[in-house]
Amino acid sequence: MKNLYIDFDGVIYNSIEVSYKMAEEEKINRDYESYYQFFKNLDWCGVLEESTEINDAFNCIQKIIDCSRFNVFILTHVVSLKEAELKVKLIREHLEDVTIIPVPKKISKTKMVKVKDAILVDDYPENLREWKEAGGIGVRFDLDMDGKGFPVICKLDELIEMF
Ligand SMILES: [Mg+2]
Repeated sequence: MKNLYIDFDGVIYNSIEVSYKMAEEEKINRDYESYYQFFKNLDWCGVLEESTEINDAFNCIQKIIDCSRFNVFILTHVVSLKEAELKVKLIREHLEDVTIIPVPKKISKTKMVKVKDAILVDDYPENLREWKEAGGIGVRFDLDMDGKGFPVICKLDELIEMF
């Protein structure tokens, strides 16, 4: 069994698009700290309500679990506890049997779990670079199939064929 870590924003839910659009509307400066503060105070309830699931993600994850070849985890960066709370609630409405690991935004995903030989599916190339450097296998999720140097998928159940 391979350990498989799946990102949430931009992979399961298009919440990142929605929140960046909100940041644009509020004319937030494009530096890290301004964004961090914006996300800290963001109304995640509203964001998740306005966001939608990407390419049947929850069903795909259920299929992956059912194929019994992976230990599946959802590994998601969060800026606030409220964000973690709402994401867990939402995921639990769809998936009963998956471990959810919220990671404080300022901590690398590689510092939260054992990376060696584990797979990370993420839309953010920097997360994948760190993951690979730490001994893991990175797979980029991108609807335009632009891998940025990594194997790429645009629907999560493609993982079953890939590994
Ligand atoms: Mg993401």
